Amino acid sequence: MADEFDVPESHPRYESLLTRHRIEEGVEKGITSKQGLIAEGRGEAFDYLLGERTSESADEAERVAAASLLLADHPVLSVNGNVAALVPGEIVELAEATGADIEVNLFNRTEERMEAIADHLREHGADEVKGLKADGRIPGLDHERAKVDADGIESADVVLVPLEDGDRAEALGAMGKTEIVIDLNPLSRSAQAAAVPVVDNILRAVPNITAHADALSEQSDATLETLVEEFDPDAALAAAEDTIRHGDLA
Ligand code: ATP
Repeated sequence: MADEFDVPESHPRYESLLTRHRIEEGVEKGITSKQGLIAEGRGEAFDYLLGERTSESADEAERVAAASLLLADHPVLSVNGNVAALVPGEIVELAEATGADIEVNLFNRTEERMEAIADHLREHGADEVKGLKADGRIPGLDHERAKVDADGIESADVVLVPLEDGDRAEALGAMGKTEIVIDLNPLSRSAQAAAVPVVDNILRAVPNITAHADALSEQSDATLETLVEEFDPDAALAAAEDTIRHGDLA
């Protein structure tokens, strides 16, 4: 089915059609849940209102996200069904650029879907995929939703959680982790709970965080720490909301 997508890149809605295609393919492969289709539709509406581009403020958040991941002792990239369908290779590249672990973490966890996503990530170059042991817990969530790996998300200091459910984003924040959230909705609880909210399409955000990580890799910890300290998450959310409410779609 991957070959069936033959829309030319010059098509004005190329990225949006490619996104839909990847999500549809993800559902067919057993990677993405049907709920993932709804999440995709919701994201697409916000992306349209944001002008389907990376704003200056999102780019700044992506730079800070890269700095946080580089500074971390144990960074983990959390991957759900939509993330695996949309940016599998890009997640592997980001993990390599920042020394992060990759962990599959599902809202609707089934062993089959966990395995299918881990296989899909390995096909895209991942060496090690965590999340299958489920020997750790996120406190404050019901049993299934709380499952994580003890040597993965449970012991991470910085976690990238793209397209995450609000409850889990809040619970991870309550565990004292620095959370980087990628979410096109600046009003979602996940984005609001984040130390670094990245209001951008994951398709653009992940490669851009990697590019920033590459550019920042030679910088001192002090320089990276200043970047992180000077970042204002509320201002980033407010800038995105302002674009959505008052932006010029033309
Ligand atoms: P919350 O519980 O945080 O209020 P929600 O119930 O809206 O969130 P979901 O329906 O699970 O959350 O949707 C996931 C989120 O992912 C939505 O806010 C949506 O805007 C966002 N999203 C969907 N597709 C993308 C994408 N391609 N890039 C970035 N964000 C996306």
